[in-house]
Amino acid sequence: MTTSDPNRNEEIEITPDDGVDLTAQPDPTTDAAEETLHCAQCQIAVSADHAVQTDNAVFCTRCFAELKRVLEDSLAGQSQNINYLGAVAGGLLGGLLGALIWWGFVMVTNIQFGLIAVVIGWGAGKGVVMFSGHKRSRTLQVISVSLAALSYGMASYWVMMSAFHEYFAENGITTKLPMIPTPALFVDVVSAGFQMFDLIFLAFALWQAWKMPAPVVLNSGE
Ligand SMILES: [Zn+2]
Repeated sequence: MTTSDPNRNEEIEITPDDGVDLTAQPDPTTDAAEETLHCAQCQIAVSADHAVQTDNAVFCTRCFAELKRVLEDSLAGQSQNINYLGAVAGGLLGGLLGALIWWGFVMVTNIQFGLIAVVIGWGAGKGVVMFSGHKRSRTLQVISVSLAALSYGMASYWVMMSAFHEYFAENGITTKLPMIPTPALFVDVVSAGFQMFDLIFLAFALWQAWKMPAPVVLNSGE
């Protein structure tokens, strides 16, 4: 028989060598309420009151305690031995790479499609996580967001810089703005092109940058 009842709840995973006959009629001499469960880790048979049921498997209490300890250890390690220098360098690299991509996109398409700003936040977050030694913590989130904001500022500057260059060229002015501006020039140029929309796109970028190095939390379903 290969037919399966779609309404059947799959509570346990049955491997072919378990020898469980699904079509067998319950033996009237045994207690039908007693279902045999097997620990997914050590395979021993566990009675229902000694079994720990997770979302996708059943464990004996001993294996579950061991797995939980391993998981907690690895989660504790996610915020230890953080390479902060790497985090800053990586976040800056990723953020600026995202900024260059955005600038390139605006240059090629002539559309300031702000949603692409998410790539700036993604780049900063990815860089922070990768170069910190694959760590996650609140401090790394703050670093990520700061560098994403800086990168977003640079992207805005480069887009405006290109617009100025275009205007200069049309009017026979040979002045070129530098790729890396002084703070004063940065403020002048960016504020010239500022629109309220930019704040929304900045928020997208920052939110993306904030999420990526967020520490993983063990939800304790005791
Ligand atoms: Zn076990």
